[in-house]
Amino acid sequence: MIEDKNIKFTPLNNFSEFELIHEWTKNFKTYHSNLVKGIGDDCAVQELADNKVLLTSTDLLIEGVHFDLSYCPPVHLGYKAAMVNFSDIIAMNAFPNSITVSVACSNFHSFELIEQIYLGIQIACDELQVDLIGGDTSSTRKELVISITVSSIYEKNKIVYRSGAKHADLICVTGDLGAAFAGLQILEREKQVFLQNPNIQPDLNDYDYVLERQLRPRARYDIIRFLNDNSLIPTSMIDISDGLANEINHISRASKLGAVIYQNKLYSDYQTQKVSELLNIPLTTFILYGGEDYELLFTIPSQYHTQVSKNKDIKIIGYMTEQFSEPMLFQEDESYVPIKPFAYHHFGKS
Ligand code: ADP
Ligand code: MG
Repeated sequence: MIEDKNIKFTPLNNFSEFELIHEWTKNFKTYHSNLVKGIGDDCAVQELADNKVLLTSTDLLIEGVHFDLSYCPPVHLGYKAAMVNFSDIIAMNAFPNSITVSVACSNFHSFELIEQIYLGIQIACDELQVDLIGGDTSSTRKELVISITVSSIYEKNKIVYRSGAKHADLICVTGDLGAAFAGLQILEREKQVFLQNPNIQPDLNDYDYVLERQLRPRARYDIIRFLNDNSLIPTSMIDISDGLANEINHISRASKLGAVIYQNKLYSDYQTQKVSELLNIPLTTFILYGGEDYELLFTIPSQYHTQVSKNKDIKIIGYMTEQFSEPMLFQEDESYVPIKPFAYHHFGKS
């Protein structure tokens, strides 16, 4: 046994996730001049010949942390694992080409379970015509681990970063917000009811929409198609994986601007509103801080106002301001409050 009594042990919960990534990677050099963007956006971007770039992104899903097999059907889990990766490519205004899939499982997992996960991944790949090109297989003591890496070769001049927003650009968001988090609340609640009394069958009919949003999210490639078809290129974009509050902070910091968002423009589904009332959690919490919606948040110059408004699934919710500052929420009572970031943090600190 290696034992060094003087070895330093700093607990991980002393750091936010952002600080951890920064601390562990800050001394790396860059050796290739074709690296356009490394750490810090939805994808890494490497320049290729003929005005093309290679986009790459990776995600890790751990049983008990990111998913719960007691209520997550494995086919949906596979679909979601693939879609959340596609979403990071889509957030760069591109389409995914290929994925690698790595799984590590234990004797607690059956052949059929993993087969169903792969079926879900396949359904997602067929939806966007993505190739499965490899992966890795290993074992764990207990929890299931799925890691997917997605890549795309795309036109360099169409790529949209978090950092490109300009003063007075419109801030746009797709779809409705907070539904995936509402779905998670219902699933967790029903799990507790079931654990206390396994004879009670949950009645989930009233929550079908929010449950689907949690279990089977769909990356917004339809929006990228719409933008492409109308020759619209956002100035900045990000997918909403950690809640609107976090994502607008990312755009604001990367673009070194402020932002104003109108509370009365934020849209949530009726079922999300019902869950908010049921659990007595403010609806704004769902909208600003609910994660996993995988909608798109983007900015666009104001002259494209009419063109983006043609798509009923795109809502203009605010505008970028000149001074770099915390994004502000313009509330219904006409007062402003800062939109604080708050992400899910793996080891405690927010
Ligand atoms: P997203 O939410 O869009 O998937 P993340 O918040 O996971 O992005 O990651 C933010 C950035 O940090 C990305 O550029 C990602 O590649 C990078 N990153 C995350 N974890 C690590 C790590 N352990 N080592 C190096 N880079 C990382
Ligand atoms: Mg992302």
